[in-house]
Amino acid sequence: MSTNPDLGTRETVARRDAYRCVRCGQPADAAWDGHSIHHRRLRSHPWPGLHEPANLITLCGSGTTGCHGHVHAHPAEAREHGWIVSAHQDHPETVPVLTASHGWVLLDQDGGWIPCDRDGRPTGLTIDQLTRLKAMNWQDSDAE
Ligand SMILES: [Zn+2]
Repeated sequence: MSTNPDLGTRETVARRDAYRCVRCGQPADAAWDGHSIHHRRLRSHPWPGLHEPANLITLCGSGTTGCHGHVHAHPAEAREHGWIVSAHQDHPETVPVLTASHGWVLLDQDGGWIPCDRDGRPTGLTIDQLTRLKAMNWQDSDAE
């Protein structure tokens, strides 16, 4: 297995996160280059879904600075907020993530997301709305 997500996956994740740090919401511009991708289930324990979008979030900084550094330095807090998923937990797709832009969300394997509560239950959306939201995510991807 490659040690890094491929370019297409990195672009999918950056687009899904609107080129912002998931934890603090800071846009990727002069402050940082936006290429810091964090593995929720850590890369120290390789598994088949390691480089899939649901396991990846955009964080400012590096492995030692900014929010990326903060997450690695505070694993208990990071697990509470879904930024780190324990290797003993379920798949990252089923573990909600707290985001600065959208609150709690569930990430999917296609680069999409849906709002949920902190227990991972989708909030206030009908199946119809979910379908439209997914379609919107796709349109966003196609437009760029
Ligand atoms: Zn940040």
